[in-house]
Amino acid sequence: MKTYRIAAIPGDGIGTEVVSAGVEVLEALAARDGGFAMAFDHFDWGGEYYKKHGRMMPEDGREQIRRHDAILFGSAGHPDIPDHITLWGLRLAICQPFDQYANVRPTRILPGITSPLRHVTGPELDWVIVRENSEGEYAGVGGRVHQGLPIEAATDVSMMTRAGVTRIMRFAFRLAQSRPRKLLTVVTKSNAQRYAMVMWDEIAVEVAKEFPDVTWDKAIVDAMTMRMTLKPESIDTVVATNLHADILSDLAAALAGSLGIAPTANLNPEREFPSMFEPIHGSAFDIMGKGIANPIGTFWSSAMMLDHLGAFGAAARLMRAIERVTADASLHTPDLGGQATTRKVTDAVIAAIRADN
Ligand code: ATP
Ligand code: MG
Repeated sequence: MKTYRIAAIPGDGIGTEVVSAGVEVLEALAARDGGFAMAFDHFDWGGEYYKKHGRMMPEDGREQIRRHDAILFGSAGHPDIPDHITLWGLRLAICQPFDQYANVRPTRILPGITSPLRHVTGPELDWVIVRENSEGEYAGVGGRVHQGLPIEAATDVSMMTRAGVTRIMRFAFRLAQSRPRKLLTVVTKSNAQRYAMVMWDEIAVEVAKEFPDVTWDKAIVDAMTMRMTLKPESIDTVVATNLHADILSDLAAALAGSLGIAPTANLNPEREFPSMFEPIHGSAFDIMGKGIANPIGTFWSSAMMLDHLGAFGAAARLMRAIERVTADASLHTPDLGGQATTRKVTDAVIAAIRADN
């Protein structure tokens, strides 16, 4: 029997609550399936770890998780620690060295969930946003001089490489090709940004030639936000830069009903390093410890993890269980307008997994 070794990194705030729910659900799936087992190693990295050790994760942290089959991540973010430290010290400290360059964010209106777009129903909003996850605006290039003086200046340089853009375009075209509509929108801002974004567009044209069966178009990022709200049915697969996709996918998550539902996969498609799966939401300290965090985003991310591992049956079973639960309004957490707790939703998903055949 195959045992998948998973590194669980709950992080901070509600990250700890949703990851422990995710671990329970994954264990229930393995028990129901019988064909595989899950072995979890837990790592207490994050804001509390930082307070004790002055860093978000140990120096050899990556070595400790390098050989796991996948990483289940919660959230990094702490009210006492600046965001750029928590982000660069943990999440990006894993994503970038592990070359998880494809960040995949599916968005769908799940059964029983109402979109703030009242006119939109489930089938009209079924997207996958592919976010370039290794360079661009988050390349970490820039500098700051003369701090505090009137002549202070600072830059954040968006660095794009031909290799980096080509591989994310190929990934996105291939993903679009695998979906029924074979439709891709390449998001850009080349009307205003004259160098990297123009190269991005040129590479899209080149890569498109490898995928003659994919229909694709180009959208300027500002116009894309309008299209997402007014013509969601015109969209299927989307590829955008690190920053653009970050923003668009928060919008997408809100349009699909709640940030608490939205999942993410940080993929190293070549499988040279482990990939990382996490809900889109942050640590949400405002609701921490109240037991009301919506765990669905973590469950959906766990289904993406199972797909990545090749446990397709278990992934499909988990998605069926999630949809059974969201369809029942008495099982909605407060972010969805309900009164259910994390515990209640988790138990219901586990019950649906056991009942599924
Ligand atoms: P971070 O700094 O780590 O990004 P944050 O405080 O910005 O965290 P987010 O998690 O990004 O908070 O979410 C913003 C708000 O959305 C939260 O304050 C919370 O009320 C709500 N929210 C986010 N995730 C969930 C969830 N899983 N369940 C319920 N509500 C959520
Ligand atoms: Mg946030």
